[in-house]
Amino acid sequence: MFLVNVDKEKCTGDGECVNICPVGVFELQGGKAVPVNQDQCLGCRSCEAVCPSGAITITEV
Ligand code: SF4
Repeated sequence: MFLVNVDKEKCTGDGECVNICPVGVFELQGGKAVPVNQDQCLGCRSCEAVCPSGAITITEV
């Protein structure tokens, strides 16, 4: 499985991860991306690649 971490200090809430994630892991809450469906993560790392602020880290555990 994969851990999805969003650095709230870096996140600007642009929603790129919400749009690109194929399984709907992210939701915007209060202007920040929150990995609400972390257990669904496929580990594709598209969100890491698309995030303009480098706020997302995917870790395989
Ligand atoms: S690694 Fe892929 S499946 Fe996992 S949260 Fe990011 S975009 Fe979604």
